[in-house]
Amino acid sequence: MPLERCPNCRARVEAHAGQCRRCEMELDLLRRTQEAANALRQEAVARLAAGDRSAAEEALRKARALHADPLCESLLGYLRTGGAPSDRPAPRPDATGS
Ligand SMILES: [Zn+2]
Repeated sequence: MPLERCPNCRARVEAHAGQCRRCEMELDLLRRTQEAANALRQEAVARLAAGDRSAAEEALRKARALHADPLCESLLGYLRTGGAPSDRPAPRPDATGS
């Protein structure tokens, strides 16, 4: 996600500027942090899809520490409240045709 304004001083910044021209904030570092948080969030979703809830929660906590984000919060809430049961009943083998 390209930054259009400096999050610190709100000055307009170029899409790939490494620093804010006005306040010299390290925009590159900020972008890398966001990218790392996004990667962790994707990992969490993949872990959740694989049924590994504790690994998903750990990845979400790390992602949230890097970049607070409403999606992270709702996913963590989903995990905390139980969400869908992780051990779904397996389809019965005799359920095919009758
Ligand atoms: Zn700035």
